[in-house]
Amino acid sequence: MSEVQTKEINKKTVNTTQVKAFGAQASDADLKEMQIERREPTSDDVHIKITYCGVCHSDIHQVRNDWKNSVYPVVPGHEIVGEVTEVGQNVKNFKKGDLVGVGCMVDSCQTCDSCKNDLEQYCENGATLTYNSENKHLQDRHTYGGYSQSIVVNKEFVLKVPGNLDTKAVAPLLCAGITTFSPLNHWKIKKGDKVGVIGLGGLGHMGIKFAHAMGAHTVMITTSPEKAKDAKRLGADEVLISKDEEAMEEQAGSFDFLLNTVPVGHDLNPYVSLLKIDGTMVLVGALEPVEINGLGLIFGRKRIAGSAIGGIKETQEMLDFCGKHDIVSDIEMIDMKNINDAYKRVVDGDVKYRFVIDMASLS
Ligand code: NAP
Ligand code: ZN
Repeated sequence: MSEVQTKEINKKTVNTTQVKAFGAQASDADLKEMQIERREPTSDDVHIKITYCGVCHSDIHQVRNDWKNSVYPVVPGHEIVGEVTEVGQNVKNFKKGDLVGVGCMVDSCQTCDSCKNDLEQYCENGATLTYNSENKHLQDRHTYGGYSQSIVVNKEFVLKVPGNLDTKAVAPLLCAGITTFSPLNHWKIKKGDKVGVIGLGGLGHMGIKFAHAMGAHTVMITTSPEKAKDAKRLGADEVLISKDEEAMEEQAGSFDFLLNTVPVGHDLNPYVSLLKIDGTMVLVGALEPVEINGLGLIFGRKRIAGSAIGGIKETQEMLDFCGKHDIVSDIEMIDMKNINDAYKRVVDGDVKYRFVIDMASLS
């Protein structure tokens, strides 16, 4: 880190520090080392030295401008674990040396109905995402994520990490974990329910672990037969190969709940056929148009819903649940300089099941 600089921003004096980060300057550019500014902590802020950061498929979508809203440079990373190095005077829940996490949001209005109901991810005024959102503190800047040495976050968006878990493998819980825990929790999955998790990637492998821990009869629904053995190791009671029409037919009408993590728009009809009457499929992956035939929904009062990450309270509940049930992500550690190769491997489905960057490799 270099020395503190003072700037006039919004007619307020904001001190900033330069830190090392990795980011992309364009949708077709590799990620490279760069310097970014972090604000000096305000009285409500927590300053965190980042130790580990997970690599989510969303990081790649944002770098590649798949969602047509990227602002460059993009510094991704929203599965952050680190150590508190400094706190503002209003911060009572955290102190220097605490092990903490930061997920996909770093702020929200905290006054709208969604925020008051612990649903900051649906903030009516727009939550501040960890990267690629407007930066409320530094004018004309956008937020930069966790592929960096440190981050400064409002105290309401910092999470406590249970001390009994492998810290490296906790990082992916901050996005892949909460995104799969939240729909299972919201739809009250319990012992005896039959739950299918579609897509065995970063999110899907956490979905299997959570559904199993909640007592559901858990089925991995995958396009990749070679993943079957692993799916069982992760907690699946059964594996269903979605390309096998006969096997899909056999399981038709038998699922209470489906968690769909497929990362692109696709044909939902084969999965709708798997649902029981009144069954629900929740989409967390596809932002693009999906194909759906009304007939399959109408004759069975079936539901298709969506879900985005989870609120801060629920994210803490998820971390505490993981502490209690000894749940972490299956990870492969990488150095920061290998991030571009890691991206290729995520797109090729060649990771078991989350890359985590050792941030010491950036220093
Ligand atoms: P990932 O690691 O790439 O896993 C996706 C899995 O989906 C793949 O391993 C593959 O599993 C399956 N799949 C891929 N392409 C498919 C296709 N065309 N048809 C059917 N199955 C396919 O991705 P991830 O990190 O888990 O993220 C999944 C998606 O969730 C991404 O789009 C990400 O942006 C999104 N996301 C959403 C939220 C949210 O809040 N809603 C939060 C985080 C991430 P099999 O080989 O087993 O078939
Ligand atoms: Zn993510």
